[in-house]
Amino acid sequence: MKIHEYQAKTILAKYGVPVPKGEVANTLPEASEAARLLLAGGASGVVVKAQIHAGGRGKGGGVKVARDLAAAEDAAKAILGMQLVTHQTGPQGQKVQRLLIEETAAIDRELYLGIVLDRATGKLVFMASQAGGMEIEEVAAKDPTAIYKEEIDPVIGLAGYQGRKIAFALCLKPTQINTAVGFFQSLYKAFVESDASLLEINPFITTKDDKLFALDAKMTFDDNALFRHPDVRALRDVAEEDPLEVEASKYALNYIKLDGSIACMVNGAGLAMATMDIIQYAGGSPANFLDVGGGATQEQIEHAFEILLSDKNVKAIFINIFGGILRVDRLATGVVNAARNLNVTVPIVLRLEGTNVEEGRKILKESGLNFQVGSTMKEAADLVVAAAKAVA
Ligand code: GDP
Ligand code: MN
Repeated sequence: MKIHEYQAKTILAKYGVPVPKGEVANTLPEASEAARLLLAGGASGVVVKAQIHAGGRGKGGGVKVARDLAAAEDAAKAILGMQLVTHQTGPQGQKVQRLLIEETAAIDRELYLGIVLDRATGKLVFMASQAGGMEIEEVAAKDPTAIYKEEIDPVIGLAGYQGRKIAFALCLKPTQINTAVGFFQSLYKAFVESDASLLEINPFITTKDDKLFALDAKMTFDDNALFRHPDVRALRDVAEEDPLEVEASKYALNYIKLDGSIACMVNGAGLAMATMDIIQYAGGSPANFLDVGGGATQEQIEHAFEILLSDKNVKAIFINIFGGILRVDRLATGVVNAARNLNVTVPIVLRLEGTNVEEGRKILKESGLNFQVGSTMKEAADLVVAAAKAVA
């Protein structure tokens, strides 16, 4: 799960990570009031920042520095409600529904900090780079040596000597080292205690008066651990998520929208991955990943159909089920009912195996509806790709 910058900064501040003073604003009057208070409190300027779940806002025009109240109001007017396009939003962009108004910092250096899980070693890695403020993916591609890495022992945590090595790698001043080590350790603690899956501070800045700040903050969380963090779960902003994925999550369906034309309904994540592969292999492209799970109910199957069909790119549906806990006859009944209730007109190709497969095939045959059944995965994939091409 992703959260907004202002929410990540609130969490980090609780762990003692210094962040600029600021306030979230949902409306123009709120933005104006927040700016007025910061300026009255002695801020030399404010920065108006679009809050969307995507990076690259600065380049897209979603971050503006203002020296006085009038300029802050103009910036807020320009950004609030805009369709902000960044390299992470896709060409359609994301509508800006709230702003973060912060006091400006007198930036000396813009650096980069990040914590991610290295799946190869099974350990967290603390990353740091002097090339902050820009896209770290670009830095990593052009000059991987510009990113310094410290692997963290999960038992010890981020040790003091490691913090100092990171600080040296960033060429921080001797007067900044101790504060920096505390800063890094607070980040690490916030990451571990909240079951985060990614934490990025880009830029991590030093100021002209030798202070350190997290000027930007990006945090994502492990969905499977959210049950033990109700406070984090409460930060979810469904307006930032794909509407179909939000709908699917209501019915405990594991759905991820993609941009192809062949919808997939599959039980089991591994089989779902294999299904997407074989669609590609047969010359088509999957419209989604969908795992209905091992024990899908009739109701879930209907909802899954509704979700697949509300994607306008879908030209054909591939149902690939291995009946284990979910018996094939029950699935077949669900599919037939859903196809009738929803008046499904797009071609459906099924590949069924497992418990009660004969009964399942019989139910499909006797339904009178137009289903095609492939006897192997490859055959079914060829059928569904041909069906989608015939429609297109
Ligand atoms: P992102 O583009 O979505 O990653 O948004 P950031 O929060 O990283 O902001 C982008 C850039 O805006 C930063 O790299 C800074 O250069 C600049 N910026 C952000 N806040 C301030 C500030 O308080 N003062 C100044 N001068 N620049 C800022
Ligand atoms: Mn940034």
